[in-house]
Amino acid sequence: MKNSALFQNWGRFKKGMDPESIQLAFANHLEYSLSKDQYTATLRDMYTSLALSIRDRLVERWIRTQEVYYEQDVKRVYYLSAEYLMGRVMTNNLINLGMYEQTVEAMNAVHVDFKSILEQEPDMGLGNGGLGRLAACFLDSMATLSIPAYGYGIRYEFGIFDQEIRGLEQVECPENWLQYGNPWEIARPEKTQRVRFQGRVEHVRQPDGSIRAEWVDTNDVIGVAYDTPINGYANETTNTLRLWSARASKEFDLEYFQHGDYMKAVEEKNRSETISKVLYPNDQVYQGRELRLKQQYFFVSCSIQDIIRRYLVNHDDFDQFAAKNAIHMNDTHPSLAVAELMRLLVDEYNLAWEKAWEITTKTCAYTNHTLLAEALEKWQVSMFENLLPRPLEIIYEINKRFLRQVSLRYPENPDKMKQLSLIGEGEEKRVRMAHLAIVGSHSVNGVAALHSRLLMERELNHFYQMFPERFNNKTNGVTPRRWLAAANPGLARLISSTIGEGWVTDLFQLEKLAEKASNQGFIEQWRDVKQENKEDFAALVRDMTGEIINPESIFDFQVKRIHEYKRQTLNILHVVYRWLSLKRGEARDYAPRTFFFGGKAAPGYYMAKLIIKFICHVADMINKDPQTNDLLKVIFLPNYRVSLAERIFPASDVSEQISTAGYEASGTSNMKFAMNGALTVGTADGANVEIREAVGDDNIFIFGLNAEEAAELGPRYNARDYLGDQVLEHVLSHISRGLFNPEDPALFHPLSDMLLGRDKYLNLADFHAYVQCQEQVDALYKDQMEWTKKCILNVARMGFFSSDRTISEYNKDIWKAEPVTVTRGEGKTPDAQGGGDCGGDQ
Ligand SMILES: *Cc1c(COP(=O)(O)O)cnc(C)c1O
Repeated sequence: MKNSALFQNWGRFKKGMDPESIQLAFANHLEYSLSKDQYTATLRDMYTSLALSIRDRLVERWIRTQEVYYEQDVKRVYYLSAEYLMGRVMTNNLINLGMYEQTVEAMNAVHVDFKSILEQEPDMGLGNGGLGRLAACFLDSMATLSIPAYGYGIRYEFGIFDQEIRGLEQVECPENWLQYGNPWEIARPEKTQRVRFQGRVEHVRQPDGSIRAEWVDTNDVIGVAYDTPINGYANETTNTLRLWSARASKEFDLEYFQHGDYMKAVEEKNRSETISKVLYPNDQVYQGRELRLKQQYFFVSCSIQDIIRRYLVNHDDFDQFAAKNAIHMNDTHPSLAVAELMRLLVDEYNLAWEKAWEITTKTCAYTNHTLLAEALEKWQVSMFENLLPRPLEIIYEINKRFLRQVSLRYPENPDKMKQLSLIGEGEEKRVRMAHLAIVGSHSVNGVAALHSRLLMERELNHFYQMFPERFNNKTNGVTPRRWLAAANPGLARLISSTIGEGWVTDLFQLEKLAEKASNQGFIEQWRDVKQENKEDFAALVRDMTGEIINPESIFDFQVKRIHEYKRQTLNILHVVYRWLSLKRGEARDYAPRTFFFGGKAAPGYYMAKLIIKFICHVADMINKDPQTNDLLKVIFLPNYRVSLAERIFPASDVSEQISTAGYEASGTSNMKFAMNGALTVGTADGANVEIREAVGDDNIFIFGLNAEEAAELGPRYNARDYLGDQVLEHVLSHISRGLFNPEDPALFHPLSDMLLGRDKYLNLADFHAYVQCQEQVDALYKDQMEWTKKCILNVARMGFFSSDRTISEYNKDIWKAEPVTVTRGEGKTPDAQGGGDCGGDQ
């Protein structure tokens, strides 16, 4: 539709960014969007009105950005991820728009407490942990670097569960983030895609003699788009996060309606809509549930169809497809993109297989996120046969052609075919999703230098030999807007007043802080900021848990998903060890320390839940001990999530990154902590290795086995070899004798059995080195000047760990999209546009 009269003013941003304009917009939304007045407006209404006011300003830039992308027919980057752990977005949007201060002023002027408005926003928790948070950081960096990018995913109605601690254990509660509506998103009920499931495939001979596959008698589900604007920092770029929500298809309903079974029809409708109902709460574990496979195909199919639709607005054939589109798979969850792009090109657009395959492999790229065998997705072929018969045929055809290539390359080695095949032949045939992703991509990357090296040398060595040119590393990063500028305003202010504000988009500028690291005045200012953050956090802890903690103590955190490989066990063993040493009156030079734990356990992960329970029991006992209380406290922080993380990092002194070397792909909380001036106690694992290189050996506490040593020890590991230490023996016998739970002494036997048995994660092998390392931490903390100097040097050397650096590398090496500067434009109307695919409605 073209209506120049209606859109005459397009291209000029009409909404003011000054406090008066914000105040007016806020009042207008309260009255006209929410129909509330001074008597009826609740805090939540005020939050919603402010969010809508901010969204208006985003929308202007959003429409302009999409116009520019269309006009310039840019190459677009499509980031496919089953998870986006966005957290709250209001502060981030305000900072990126450059209207944070003005908004604070506007709210003050109308006597509204801005802080409590921010607290109204529910976390957008559409992810489990690191992988989903990475996707969120990447969206921020892509927009800030002016890359024409889209995030695609699933609009889960229920994100990651809320964790409560009741009776000293985890209880999962549903998290209903959409309960009061979501003011940031725009529903596009007209932007739908049809996704087929089940049915059967007919191979029909065409008049020209060729054979065409038709996927028929399917049960279809409709994907409805919900768009959220993602704006860059201090630029006009506003990209799109498009999440798909499942809706029943009319035809599907009709069948039942025609048979007069109204209730059955509604029931079936419900069934289709469960696809986007809930996020699977597993992290780093594969669970072969059919609904999960449905979720994956659902969002991948919607997204690929949408990508092709958008491409065809400006193009008549697929010759330019790979030049105009980069599709990135965040782990294997979206790896069906390879099969779906092939299916659409071959079945729907009649491309020859070879041509379609060339386009697909040139377009797709894949990031591997794990070294854990149990995390690899291997879907049963029988499930595919029923649910996705045509994509399965496509996968078989890809495999047939690939194995032909393998046998030509290794004519003397038939084992290679078995090792590389997309189909695993165990007791049951399974599709190996990582193999599909690798074969269908031109780039395969790991997420830290060590991780990428181990993939090439070990886990994916067969593929590395076959396609060495595809493999590369992209060390993770985090966005300094959220994790420093927004989360730690005190430190951000100190940094900006010292070196200017350039660091926000060029984090390497933090290096300029290094020369201040020995400056006494600066050190004192730095300590004041940290102390204030710790006091704020102590108040939050009191509100959350009722515990009173000493803000002068070392704040030591291990916050991340609960996992055996992350070794919260090693941490809590050391805490108990420390407590027993104190009680035995051993003259140890401990500084007062508060050990914080936080993280969710997957509801079906027995050992992880037992570990939480154990930490809570230990905390309950230790915190009640007057003999040790001034030196030792233990707090389990319930419901670890992005908004809580934003309070934790600024208040942290010590960052615990103690996974068994060779198991943590990268980690990103290690980066957030160091960026906020905490010192790392960690193993030589994941990105810890690169953090050590960046900050220097003297400014980090690295202990224990390295990845090679751990792998070598593994098969001959005997936990009892490490029991020489009397106190450690005591710790373990206390656990097995039930000191921490006299009512049920056997409660933690599975834990002590694990630690003393065939512990895959070698807790006791690293225990001694860990204890020693922790004593060095105490010693250093007593010299506050030296301690703070090291903290400053950590922050100064964090430039490399900005996700801006990561995304620049992805773009330079993999996507090769041209950054596009979005300017306000001079009253351009959407006249030039065709295909009805314009503006914010892309
Ligand atoms: C950064 C972050 C993670 C990832 O933490 P790791 O320690 O790297 O596993 C998980 N959850 C939240 C809420 C985060 O902010």
